[in-house]
Amino acid sequence: MKEGNVLIFDTTLRDGEQVPGASLTKAEKIEIAKQLEKLNVDVIEAGFPISSPGDFDAVRAISEELTTPIIAGLCRAVKKDIESCAQALKKAKRGRIHTFIGTSDIHVKYITNSTREDILQRSVDAVKFAREFCDDVEYSAMDATRTDFEYLCRIVEETIKAGAGIINIPDSVGYSTPEEFGLLIKNLMNKVPNIDKAIISVHCHNDLGMATANSLSAVLNGARQVECTINGLGERAGNAAIEEIAMALKVRNDFYKTNTNINTKEIYATSKLLTKLTGLAVQANKAIVGQNAFAHASGIHQDAILKKEDTFGIMSPESIGLNGHSIVLTSRSGRHALKHRLKDLGYSIEESELTDIYKQFLDVADRKKEVFNDDLKLIMDRIGKVAR
Ligand SMILES: [Zn+2]
Repeated sequence: MKEGNVLIFDTTLRDGEQVPGASLTKAEKIEIAKQLEKLNVDVIEAGFPISSPGDFDAVRAISEELTTPIIAGLCRAVKKDIESCAQALKKAKRGRIHTFIGTSDIHVKYITNSTREDILQRSVDAVKFAREFCDDVEYSAMDATRTDFEYLCRIVEETIKAGAGIINIPDSVGYSTPEEFGLLIKNLMNKVPNIDKAIISVHCHNDLGMATANSLSAVLNGARQVECTINGLGERAGNAAIEEIAMALKVRNDFYKTNTNINTKEIYATSKLLTKLTGLAVQANKAIVGQNAFAHASGIHQDAILKKEDTFGIMSPESIGLNGHSIVLTSRSGRHALKHRLKDLGYSIEESELTDIYKQFLDVADRKKEVFNDDLKLIMDRIGKVAR
């Protein structure tokens, strides 16, 4: 692992799997975990072992099968949850117990029906108890962005003292904004005296469409682990998307000055596998992995990108494992794009022939929205051209 890189904590199999309709079989979870290993994520949160026998089983199986990434299991700050999690992780080469409890007043009052002092004590006890099973313990202050700041500082300081090596600051309800969330991380870094003993992690939800921006703002202010999911899958509007975090840090390395360990060439394959197994389609204009993310429809853009990729592309499709830009042939496409496609199909066209072919192409394009390769082959047949 490269020193100083941001660690990617994948929670597709936990937060992502909580999405209605996304439930996966054990075999499917193992298949995804193996693909995540190829993607080279640092941590895989494989499930929430106490929540169901199926989840327990999946965490146990993934712990047994995988070798490289850390395998994390989620548990409430409750003894029986922690015990179950430790058991499920028993065979992991590197296991992590991830324990959490709500720390905002609204969670303290309505979810746990408790007090701040009691929640602080339960947090410390949970971390200490988890450390009896595992050296690698992560603590999450659920709803941190709506938690009183002074109280959050105490929680973070005390859970680090209790033995948590990773402290997660989740924006559980997707309420924060990039400036505010960055400042929260910065203030924690400055206020908590033992903060250098732990890695600060963030877990942002996308309710206002700011999960990726919030996560990156946290990175700028010292967070060194980002929790995210493939295709941004997750509760409600989802989580920060791995593909966006990884490519933003790669493409804008000049600005962020940090990177991830992600093998970005596996991004597209991972996204496709998730879509196939969950049945949840990715929106066509989704950043990085959407069907149109590397597609060009305007004639001016097509002409430019065929001359030089950088004109309308900030990253290469190959960098995420795709095979080139996709040029969508429509009535807005120019002669250059048409000639380029015909060449790809094996036809060599003289400049003198192109005018007539382009006219026939426009006839088809006016009738249909998109002109496909088969349409082009029909035109070529008609004028007696043979592909080589
Ligand atoms: Zn979440």
